[in-house]
Amino acid sequence: MIKEILLGHETNKRDLDDWDLTLTCDHTVRLTQHRDRRSFSTSVVPCPTCRERRGVVEAVHVGPTEDPAGEVRRERLAAELRAAEAKLARQRKAAARTEQQIAATTKELGGTQGSSGG
Ligand SMILES: [Zn+2]
Repeated sequence: MIKEILLGHETNKRDLDDWDLTLTCDHTVRLTQHRDRRSFSTSVVPCPTCRERRGVVEAVHVGPTEDPAGEVRRERLAAELRAAEAKLARQRKAAARTEQQIAATTKELGGTQGSSGG
């Protein structure tokens, strides 16, 4: 818990993605925005070279801003893997329950056949 507090400000930075933007003046700038956004949200950005606002021709997603060792990517993949494994475990349990149900019903059906029913 203490670790989370200490790393609090870093966590925010780690939620940022780098984007390489090609502008209408043919300059390229690197900007960051929150990972929640799947595409770059701004269509006009200030160009530091021209010192003017330029339209964004192309936005290329570079990746996490604070991810020198690919840690954020690994964590995300690990989380996806855990979620998929949990889903598989649930599906296996459901399948096992269905199998048990089939076995029980088959047994019950077998029991009704040929019984004198007295
Ligand atoms: Zn420019």
